[in-house]
Amino acid sequence: MSTPPRVLVVGAGAAGSAAAVRLARAGAVEVMVVGAEPRMPYNRTTVNKGLLAGAVADDDITLSDLDELPVQWLLGRRATALDAVRRSVKLDGGATINADAIVLATGAHPRTLPASVAPAIGDRVVSLRTAEDTHRLRHLHLRAYDQADHRRLAAPWRHRTSGTRQPGRPPLRRRTARR
Ligand SMILES: Cc1cc2nc3c(=O)[nH]c(=O)nc-3n(C[C@H](O)[C@H](O)[C@H](O)COP(=O)(O)OP(=O)(O)OC[C@H]3O[C@@H](n4cnc5c(N)ncnc54)[C@H](O)[C@@H]3O)c2cc1C
Repeated sequence: MSTPPRVLVVGAGAAGSAAAVRLARAGAVEVMVVGAEPRMPYNRTTVNKGLLAGAVADDDITLSDLDELPVQWLLGRRATALDAVRRSVKLDGGATINADAIVLATGAHPRTLPASVAPAIGDRVVSLRTAEDTHRLRHLHLRAYDQADHRRLAAPWRHRTSGTRQPGRPPLRRRTARR
């Protein structure tokens, strides 16, 4: 029995997983997907909505029925080079995968700040593209909130005399001496 042709899909986003699903359902081919993100394909449109707000859990955004299909998932691996003539893809770590056909579905990447600016800002700038980004952003937000709260507790007079209203608190009134 001859081995079925192999299709390698690079990128496990909506496009890559849709291609893999269609090919696997059609049968007669071996399907392999290489994805740089460490998780099964998920609905990216939830990243800046339900997931960031904490209204949906990580597990609930995974695209459905993917486990049931005969697709080999190589996740958390990045393709680093394509040899279109030999029809092979090199992965980080050095392995090479040969295929009869290769689908490139690598999507888009956020533009990052120039190297000259980035170190000064450190980890306070976060792109919002992946599910992992939402965790980083939520962590930063909570850290900033904690720091603001510590500052308020350490120097309460600043907040008392500033006359500015704290969110969620009633306006502060000046104390007047009783007669
Ligand atoms: C925050 C956010 C919210 C959005 N909301 C909406 C919405 O409400 N409605 C709407 O219509 N669209 C929305 N979009 C757009 C929509 O998500 C994209 O159009 C869609 O994700 C594109 O799918 P894709 O598979 O082409 O690319 P991507 O989603 O970018 O997936 C590409 C995948 O390939 C992987 N990859 C890249 N390079 C390599 C490599 N060298 N090796 C291995 N893997 C690699 C990436 O890690 C990624 O997982 C939103 C996008 C974002 C970022």
